[in-house]
Order: sequence, then structure tokens, then C-alpha cells
Amino acid sequence: MDQREEMISVSGVDKFYGDFQALAEVDLSVKHGERVVICGPSGSGKSTLIRCFNGLEFHDAGSIVIDGITVEEGSKSLRTLRQEVGMVFQQFNLFPHLTILENLTIGPMKVQRISKSEAENRARKYLDRVHIPEQADKYPAQLSGGQQQRVAIARSLCMETRIMLFDEPTSALDPEMINEVLDVMVELAGTGITMVCVTHEMGFARKVADKMVFMEAGRIVETSPPDKFFTNPDSARCKLFLSQILEH
Ligand code: ADP
Ligand code: MG
Repeated sequence: MDQREEMISVSGVDKFYGDFQALAEVDLSVKHGERVVICGPSGSGKSTLIRCFNGLEFHDAGSIVIDGITVEEGSKSLRTLRQEVGMVFQQFNLFPHLTILENLTIGPMKVQRISKSEAENRARKYLDRVHIPEQADKYPAQLSGGQQQRVAIARSLCMETRIMLFDEPTSALDPEMINEVLDVMVELAGTGITMVCVTHEMGFARKVADKMVFMEAGRIVETSPPDKFFTNPDSARCKLFLSQILEH
């Protein structure tokens, strides 16, 4: 049995937008250092689920516990929660009027109240980690999409969170820039950080995932180790989905 500390524990979660049920009876467990890849058709609830992990959305029933913190709307612990969980989105959301270095230092200085010099040291460390140390003094518009997404990953790393969530981080990128971002994510996966990635990049998934999750219509239809997931998934819907995306 795997004795590692449970970092994300989701049990019986439902989520509604008005009358529409976006998540239904979702259960998921993610251990410390585990890498989980979530896939499934558009509208299946993938973004909603991971947005519920850091309080960008709130579930209506069931429970979500992140690194010991129970996620609840209005709870005082949301601030702590957001210091535990970083997120990288499809859109990079960098501040256009700030340099790359300033984009990386603003969060730690404001939220964690660390000094400017400490924040800059951290920023340079993580810019090195994403292989663009030379871009520190430029503005976002001067960088390619792939470079901007790597800055967004570095920005999240600068908060030194224990969990990183990725929501289709390469799907807004030109094809030739996808690999540079995936390479950084593969390296990150090697550092032992707990990762939950929503992505349809199955090459990446095969490289890093400890566990694959397939969602459809707000439900987790399949959870399995990659070996099984890619060769012999239990559900026909998952098989069909994989055959469709792996054709390309
Ligand atoms: P996915 O990320 O798998 O594409 P989402 O989690 O974004 O799916 O959305 C799941 C469903 O919930 C979709 O049908 C979507 O239209 C709906 N939805 C998402 N966000 C909202 C919202 N803020 N208000 C109403 N419906 C929403
Ligand atoms: Mg989504």
C-alpha cells in the first residue's frame, strides 16, 4: 500500500452552475509527489474540478481537502490554501506593463512579504529553471508564446507552492512552441512536486503521469495507471476518446 501523505483528497464532489451539474460524485486522491494527468472531452468538467482545488470555484457537495486544508467558501484558510497550490492556465496572464522579473517578484513580495532582493534571487533561480534567464528585463510582449508560458510557470514556482495545477497549458500555443513548455513540465515533474495537469498531450502524459484520469459529463469515468490507460482502458468511452486524439 502507498503510504505517502495525501495531498489532494476529493470525495463525492458535486458542482452546479445554476441548474447545470458540472461535477457529479467526483472522487480523487493525489499523494505527495504524485503526477496526475486529467483528460476528457471539452465541457467534461476538467477545469471546474481543478479550479475547485484552489478556491477559484467552490463545490456544492462532498469534500475537498488539500494538504490538510478543507476547502470551503468564505473560509479563513483560503489564503493559506492559495499559498499551497499554484496554477498555470492556458492564457499566461502576465502583467504587460511589468518586466518579466517584476512579474515574478510581485506575488512573493505582496503575498509572502519577502524582501525585493530575496524575491529577485528567487525569480532568477526559477527563470534559470525554465531556461530563459536572459529574458528577465524584457516585457511580456517581447517574448514568444512559449517563453511567456515558461514565465508563467516560473511565476508559479516563485510562490514555492507544494502543488502545481496546469489547465491545458499548451493549448493556446503555436505548435512549434509546445515542446519547449512540455520539456519544462517534464523537468518539473522530476523535482518531486505534486502535479495535476489537464492536458491532451499524451506523449507528455506517458512520460510523467503516475495516474491517468478520464472525465466525461462531469464524472470521472476512468482512473488508471498509464500502462493500463493507454493499452486497455476499462471504459469504451475512454477508448474512443483516446483513439480520436491519438489519431492526430
Ligand atoms: P472542461 O475544462 O472539461 O472543458 P469546464 O470545467 O470548463 O470543462 O466546464 C464544464 C461545464 O460547465 C461546461 O458545460 C461549461 O459550459 C460549464 N461551465 C463552466 N464554467 C461555467 C460558469 N462559470 N457558468 C456556467 N457554466 C459553466
Ligand atoms: Mg477546461
